[in-house]
Amino acid sequence: MCSDDRNLTCDNEYRVMSPVSSYYQTHREKCLASAKRYQRKNRKKVQLYMKGYYQRTRAKQSKKTRELFASLRDQCLELLGKRCARCGFDDIRVLQIDHVNGGGHAERKSAISMYKKILALGGIGYQTLCANCNWIKRIENKEHRRIIEEATP
Ligand SMILES: [Zn+2]
Repeated sequence: MCSDDRNLTCDNEYRVMSPVSSYYQTHREKCLASAKRYQRKNRKKVQLYMKGYYQRTRAKQSKKTRELFASLRDQCLELLGKRCARCGFDDIRVLQIDHVNGGGHAERKSAISMYKKILALGGIGYQTLCANCNWIKRIENKEHRRIIEEATP
């Protein structure tokens, strides 16, 4: 019942049994052992399938990530205000989220986690600035030099 053939549907397709199927639920160990045997025997085929799987899902995943990014950015701008705190410029294409007390360089590694943190904190410690005002603030506070100094050994 749980033979290697069970995982193979045709020459171009490799399928692992769905973990929610009732057979899998009752014969989990047997199915995992069978899948492992199949993978060992058909290493190249499985590698090709997994490479294809990555390529097939990559576009979908990056679309999801872009949508999440846009949604979180919009929520943050909604919370912090959709205009520059210094000059009042309100074109959202150039609005940036600024760390009021600096130190945003380390946090900018992942924008999505930064946006989630801003929302969790209710926006405290952050403000909206346009790109020009953000750069002017960095230069005035010499934050740009800190970035350069940190980057050079
Ligand atoms: Zn501005």
